[in-house]
Amino acid sequence: MKNENIRVRFAPSPTGFLHIGSARTAFFNWLFAKKMSGVFVLRIEDTDIERHKEDTIDLIMDSLKWLGITWDEGPDIGGIFAPYRQSLRKEIYNQYAQKLIAEKRAYRCFCSPDKLEEKRKASTKDKGSDFLKYDRECLKLTDEDIANNLQYGRNYTIRLLVPDDREINFTDIAYGKISVNSKIVEDFIIIRSNGLPTYNFSVAIDDIQMKITHVIRGEDHLSNTPKQLLIYDALNSELPRFVHLPMILGSDGQKLSKRHGSISIEAYRDEGFLPEAIQNYLALLGWAYDEKTTIFSLEELVAKFSLEDINKKPAKFDYEKLLWLNGGYIRNTDDKILSKLIYGRLIKSAPQKNTDIVSGINMAKIEKIIPLIKERMRTIKEACELISPFFYKVRYAEEIKNFFENEKSEAANILNNTITVLEAFSDNQTTSITFKSSLIEPELKKIADKLGINLRKVAEVVRIALWGAKVSPPLFGTMEILGRTETLNRLKAYSENF
Ligand code: GLU
Repeated sequence: MKNENIRVRFAPSPTGFLHIGSARTAFFNWLFAKKMSGVFVLRIEDTDIERHKEDTIDLIMDSLKWLGITWDEGPDIGGIFAPYRQSLRKEIYNQYAQKLIAEKRAYRCFCSPDKLEEKRKASTKDKGSDFLKYDRECLKLTDEDIANNLQYGRNYTIRLLVPDDREINFTDIAYGKISVNSKIVEDFIIIRSNGLPTYNFSVAIDDIQMKITHVIRGEDHLSNTPKQLLIYDALNSELPRFVHLPMILGSDGQKLSKRHGSISIEAYRDEGFLPEAIQNYLALLGWAYDEKTTIFSLEELVAKFSLEDINKKPAKFDYEKLLWLNGGYIRNTDDKILSKLIYGRLIKSAPQKNTDIVSGINMAKIEKIIPLIKERMRTIKEACELISPFFYKVRYAEEIKNFFENEKSEAANILNNTITVLEAFSDNQTTSITFKSSLIEPELKKIADKLGINLRKVAEVVRIALWGAKVSPPLFGTMEILGRTETLNRLKAYSENF
């Protein structure tokens, strides 16, 4: 049973992907709802027709679902809840606006944008100030004037009649007591001339109508709150509690942008992060349980999360820390689950031409590879890139072909010796010198000793030849999984460069 006394909402505007900051807002709302067994509502704020992008609604919902954030209400579309959409609630906002007009808490304004602009210019000139409150010209209209204007079909907006001198007070759970005098707030527009509500109006009406008890959102909305409170006041509605979440900055203290790492949840999914790691990291952006704990399972977060522990100090987004955290989650994930994730990704990015494939992508092989790389895996994508030469032909880039330009004869010598030694091995696991890492390593060490060089040098040459890259999974295990034939093929192919 849900506790109807706790109702929260996440209210994204569909203008783009789900930003890391919005995801944090969604997650904090969701955590609080879960902790309190309350209701979590998803509301799409799509009344800004200029910025609206319809296809981003699905993107946002997909990212939320990937993060494990589900909503508890909305129009039923075949057993699942669609989100609420403000664009479908126009009637509701207009009914409230009409009620406010009837109660003289709002009025129609027939001033055209040009006229308002003239007023603004005149005022700036006269008073040397660039802050202009609407001069309430239309508040003076008689009922007859209004009826005439309506009869002629003149466009109008609806403005809230803001009290002249009233302290607007509220206590934000993170930011503390906030007080603003209504003197600095003009009679702002609540319904535009196209009949659509402005942001502050639709948010307040929805929060009232949907009986939202806790408004948890980004601090960029702190400055909108007084206007919304005036709407609550005009409608004589009970106030929710407010918690504004601190700004998220990049690790250098600058505004968060792409140069600090990906900023959309979609990108993190594409980069092969685990949703559990992202959840954990999001929770740390503005909330802390104590000064030291950074790793929390979802159950722990639900149990420990509290609005009172939200910090107003800007949070720093540290991509390296997130990578580290993701690596930790990967190491705690069962190899079978990791294999599935890697498999899915490899299959999706498999080259079109069959000739590029040296070995079919299959789960059994991936499961053998995982122990080689698990300790250093940071994302699924990185892992796939690292291990793709197990499955695809290696194509040597120019820089790799010329890698040993200044030491050609030594590299050729190392390769030839290695080829000779490996040819003596058998692919057949039943004979005595099977192609196993524990047997390959001492043979290569012998080559190093014979040539009077370090095993590291031998490994470097063999790695470049085998992997076409400077980095590979641990070499001897890699050779074993690749098998004798393919290993030799690659060593021979590379030695043609000398
Ligand atoms: N639609 C607003 C946004 O995306 C959020 C409004 C709110 O949470 O009050 O920023």
